[in-house]
Amino acid sequence: MPLATHPTHQRRCGWNAWLPSRTPRPSLVGPERADVVIVGAGYTGVAAALAWHRQRPGDRILLLEADQVGEGSPGRNSGFMLEVALANDAHPDELARMSQLNALSRQTMATLRQRVEELGGDCQLQHSGTYRAARSDVGRRSLAQYRGFLDAAKLRYKGLNQGELVERLGTEYYLEGLYSPDCYLVQPAALIRTLVEGLPAGVELYEQTAVRDIIADGSDWRVSTAQGEVRAPCVLLANNAFSRALGADTSRLVAIYTYAALTEPLPEQHRLRIAREPWGLLPAHRLGCTLRTTEDGRLMIRSRYSYEREADNDRIEAELKASLEARYPELAPIRFESLWGGTTGLTYNGAPLWGEIAPGLHVSAGCNGGGIVKGTYLGDALARRAMGLEVEDVQALFGTASWMPPEPLRRLGFHIKSRMERRKAISET
Ligand SMILES: Cc1cc2nc3c(=O)[nH]c(=O)nc-3n(C[C@H](O)[C@H](O)[C@H](O)COP(=O)(O)OP(=O)(O)OC[C@H]3O[C@@H](n4cnc5c(N)ncnc54)[C@H](O)[C@@H]3O)c2cc1C
Repeated sequence: MPLATHPTHQRRCGWNAWLPSRTPRPSLVGPERADVVIVGAGYTGVAAALAWHRQRPGDRILLLEADQVGEGSPGRNSGFMLEVALANDAHPDELARMSQLNALSRQTMATLRQRVEELGGDCQLQHSGTYRAARSDVGRRSLAQYRGFLDAAKLRYKGLNQGELVERLGTEYYLEGLYSPDCYLVQPAALIRTLVEGLPAGVELYEQTAVRDIIADGSDWRVSTAQGEVRAPCVLLANNAFSRALGADTSRLVAIYTYAALTEPLPEQHRLRIAREPWGLLPAHRLGCTLRTTEDGRLMIRSRYSYEREADNDRIEAELKASLEARYPELAPIRFESLWGGTTGLTYNGAPLWGEIAPGLHVSAGCNGGGIVKGTYLGDALARRAMGLEVEDVQALFGTASWMPPEPLRRLGFHIKSRMERRKAISET
């Protein structure tokens, strides 16, 4: 089956539906010429556009986005902005690298916060820290491994027993957990809208403009969309897993869909117990559920994965409702106001696909589950690298995305592994 050039979704993004409607910028029509084309207005693409404009304000920079801003992948996530790199590995060789990555993440997070402040958008950005919690033996082993990493990396956290989790999260479901302070929560659709709208006028954005093809033409690249074409000597692919259809390495990156739902605002008696304070919980086990509160007293739950294609949203809705009710049986009568799927680019070892593919054609993709902060750093670094500026050694810091077997073995491997893991960790899902 040919690879999709851009994502499509069965349902609207709940975070975006919550915001006032906005008029999208026009689509690209007709032939154009630019100094650089950036494909994808996500966290990676926006950071790349800003970095390019800062360095070369006179250049013509075209940012092409397949969807409407806020409605696409970057607005569909859970809104956890992690200040530290996600890792379970406490191997001493890894720790020096992890502490460098953590320093980079904190610095990028500080820049993002400052940018949101400058732009004045209401992104509901708040410092909440994050919980991790487990119920099963498998989940508790993952938690112990993570705790080992935090200890070795000398990162702050507080261990929590079931009673303390009940007090903080209002659920008896989890038997053990921990709280670490290095995380912010944000309304992701509001964040991406704010960042895109705040780009300088020198960055020309075209929405509902999916790039279909990129062909080398002398010293230029010819970038084709449904109604237009741009020639430019430099193209940055910032469209995550969909970069594979435009020239990025297909053997190191896959598109994984995952799903989130927002409840209606909780009635007062539940809100006071569950959503008194803003909090977010990431799963101890990777198949587990993410949970968080919102500013207006809803709960968001994220869980389930599918490979390369969006699963039937009706089935996912029933499964997410069951997971929520297992944790909060008293919320059985509360309905989901919205449920949606979103894509993320996944590499086997978590390292990004990053760098120059061919002269003038560059890619940054595969942020796995932490792309708000990571994509912002990598997009900025990619633009600097493409302009020939000095850049940190991204490969040494983040590693190199590892090779995966070709289809259909890869698909088969994904299904077998996730079925086996799911069986062992069923109560974490
Ligand atoms: C449900 C869910 C929850 C998640 N939770 C979190 C979280 O809490 N915290 C976190 O940090 N990360 C989270 N992630 C992952 C995070 O969303 C990604 O890592 C991040 O969005 C990657 O940023 P990006 O800019 O590289 O790519 P994307 O955000 O995927 O942006 C790529 C952009 O390119 C556009 N595009 C694609 N193809 C084309 C094309 N051919 N032409 C033009 N445009 C194109 C897309 O429409 C999109 O706007 C979650 C993901 C999902 C799905």
